[in-house]
Amino acid sequence: MADALDAARLAFPLGHCGNVAVGGYLLGGGLGWNSGQWGIACHAIESADVVMADGSLIRVSELENPEIFWALRGAGPAFFGIVTRYRLRLQPSPRAITEAAWVYPIARVAEATRWMQACAAVMPVNVELSMAMAAAPERFYRDVVRAGYRGAYLRTLAAGVAAGEIELESLRIAAPDELADEEVAERLLTLPGVGPYAAAHVMMLLGRHSRLILDSWSRPKWATVNGRKASDATIERRFRRYGPYAGLAFWLRLTEDWA
Ligand SMILES: Cc1cc2nc3c(=O)[nH]c(=O)nc-3n(C[C@H](O)[C@H](O)[C@H](O)COP(=O)(O)OP(=O)(O)OC[C@H]3O[C@@H](n4cnc5c(N)ncnc54)[C@H](O)[C@@H]3O)c2cc1C
Repeated sequence: MADALDAARLAFPLGHCGNVAVGGYLLGGGLGWNSGQWGIACHAIESADVVMADGSLIRVSELENPEIFWALRGAGPAFFGIVTRYRLRLQPSPRAITEAAWVYPIARVAEATRWMQACAAVMPVNVELSMAMAAAPERFYRDVVRAGYRGAYLRTLAAGVAAGEIELESLRIAAPDELADEEVAERLLTLPGVGPYAAAHVMMLLGRHSRLILDSWSRPKWATVNGRKASDATIERRFRRYGPYAGLAFWLRLTEDWA
C-alpha cells in the first residue's frame, strides 16, 4: 500500500513497520506515521464492507449501520464481523520527510528522558519522537534496520558509546571557536565505518555546515545541476561566499529536485 500511495504522491498513517498488515491495524485503531497531524488511522476509514455472523454483507459508515461502524474503529480482535474492504481517506504525500537519531550511553537515560518529555510538550504535531533502549545484535542492524555492511560499524559504535570508550557529546556541545570544523571532521573520521561522506553528513546534523560533501555521487550531480563538470577547487570557490554555510548551500543546490 505504501508503495502504491507513494507512486501517486499520496500518503496514509500506516504502521511504522513496513510489514504491518492494514486489516487488523485499522480495526485496532492504528497509530501510524504522522498520527499526530493526520489522526489515528481508523478515523480515516470512510466506509467498510463487513460480512456479519449471519452471512450478510453490509456496508458500514457514518450514515450506514453507524453502530457497527463505531465498533469497527477500535474493537481490534474483538470485532464481530469480517471486513472485506476498507475505503480510506488519503493525505497528500509530505514534500519531504527527515529523521535524526541520537545515541546516548545508558548512564544518561534519566537526562535523555527528561529532555524528551520537555520536547514532547512543545514540539509541532508533525514531529514524531520515540525512544528505544536496546542492546541489539549485529543481525538487527542488517535485517531490521537494513543498514547492509554498515551494520557491524553501527554495532561497534553503539557498543563503544555505551561502554564509555567513545565520547561524542563534546562534538555536539563545543562551539565552533572552541572546536574548529576541521577538528570535528578529523575526530569523526577516526570512528568505525565513518568516511568523508558520512562525516560530512554528521557534521550537518551537528549544525556545522562549512564543508562541502564531494564524492562519487555529488560531483556528477553537480555537473548535471551546473551544466558542466568542475574540479573540487572550482566548486569550493563557487560556494566560498556562503562562509560557514557553504556546505549547506551546496547540498541544497544538489538536492533542489528532491522537494
Ligand atoms: C512489527 C510490528 C509493528 C507494529 N507497529 C504498529 C504501529 O506502528 N502502530 C500500530 O497501531 N500497531 C502496530 N502493530 C500492531 C498491529 O497493528 C497489529 O498486530 C495488527 O493486528 C496487525 O494487523 P493484521 O492484519 O496482521 O492482524 P492479524 O494479526 O492477522 O489479526 C489481529 C486480529 O484482527 C483480526 N482481523 C484482522 N483482519 C481482519 C479483518 N479483515 N476482518 C476482521 N477481523 C480481522 C484477526 O481476526 C485477529 O483477531 C505492529 C505489529 C507488529 C508485529
